[in-house]
Amino acid sequence: MRPGDLLYPRKCPFCTRLLPAGEEEDVCPECRADLPWTRGGGKTKGDFFSLCLSPLEYSGKAREALLRFKFRGRKAYGRCFGRLMAACVRENLPWEPGVVTYVPLHYFRFRSRGYSQSRLLAEALAEELGKPCRALLRKARFTRPLNPLRGADKRRAVVSGSYALSRSGAAGIEGERILLVDDVVTTGATLSECSRVLLTAGAERVACATLCRAAHKR
Ligand SMILES: [Zn+2]
Repeated sequence: MRPGDLLYPRKCPFCTRLLPAGEEEDVCPECRADLPWTRGGGKTKGDFFSLCLSPLEYSGKAREALLRFKFRGRKAYGRCFGRLMAACVRENLPWEPGVVTYVPLHYFRFRSRGYSQSRLLAEALAEELGKPCRALLRKARFTRPLNPLRGADKRRAVVSGSYALSRSGAAGIEGERILLVDDVVTTGATLSECSRVLLTAGAERVACATLCRAAHKR
């Protein structure tokens, strides 16, 4: 049992049932057996990143839990999700990242939601990996949510130029090995654009990590 379990009984984020007392894992045994786990780290790649790792497919209970985390205020899931991502990164990333960062939300969206899900994931992941989490990027202009049905080329055109270095990023990322976090990877257009900004600013390499990988048609 962990400290605080008596005051705040822990729930499995995927089925929302209470975890058995003394359960060490963050995910209940049924969900552990049942979740749509990816194989081999769920590797995908994009134009400006060679590796994105995701422990789960974006379907079933994983998708539902991510939607509660993102839109229904279940911020506490971040810790469990960060652990799942950390295990996936440790097992499948062939080099050690020096810093963790995340795809930023535009201020308007941040204000309406009150928190950034990718930042919560990045902070939890960074803590697990024992690395710093820095806000290296900012949203340069507002873009509507990307519609996966619009196709990879159109998505690329929509996100191009929509991210820039933040003040912290501009303070120096030369030679950094960066792990870039988002909640879901679909076509990889957003992660690719963010990677491009980081590499252009002198990052040595960028890999990405997301909780889920969504299927898409190219
Ligand atoms: Zn469960």
